[in-house]
Amino acid sequence: MANLPPSNYDESEADPCRQIAEAVRDILASIGEDLDREGLIQTPKRVAQMYTELTAGYQVDLNALVNGAIFHVDYPEMVVVLDIDFSSLCEHHLLPFFGKVHVAYIPDGRVIGLSKIPRIVEMYARRLQMQERMTVEIADTLQHILEPQGVGIIVEAKHMCTMGRGVEKINARMVTRAMLGNFEDANIRNEFISHIGYKDEDSTQHHHDHQHEERFA
Ligand SMILES: [Zn+2]
Repeated sequence: MANLPPSNYDESEADPCRQIAEAVRDILASIGEDLDREGLIQTPKRVAQMYTELTAGYQVDLNALVNGAIFHVDYPEMVVVLDIDFSSLCEHHLLPFFGKVHVAYIPDGRVIGLSKIPRIVEMYARRLQMQERMTVEIADTLQHILEPQGVGIIVEAKHMCTMGRGVEKINARMVTRAMLGNFEDANIRNEFISHIGYKDEDSTQHHHDHQHEERFA
């Protein structure tokens, strides 16, 4: 605590950004760093801003996000949105995990505006997360908003917390999925998976690292 700036602000008006910055100063001091050296002077502030951005999803209001972009359409075929990039923070290590989310649903009279799906993904990615939970939350949210015939979510991601532990794991991907409603049917699920464009064999080879390994089909 020795290197903290004079604490002359009112504790009652707690400013999360400032609190994070002070905590980062504590971490740097604990490492034995010189807080006054040029490269570190702005680091607590930068890290605080970064964490504020990376956890902004807690503040998002789902109704405001959707904002009426639900449309009544008689379209009984599968709607598929592939390769939605995301970056999140693993809640066990506060390190990034990042990759792609693939979304599919079969409407039951209602569809959602295309731009809203990546924003729903972001709402859940910008929190402290587990990939498994994020996958389920995205699926449950679409189920709740659209009440479709079914929803399928597949998330593939690399986790910095495993990548840092050995060169051989650098390409390991973790794949999670959530299949609701008629996506429990193997034919429908496989149609979705076929859009993603890799086969069962590929996926099992590439995500062998993680204890929560999932296989398609
Ligand atoms: Zn982790």
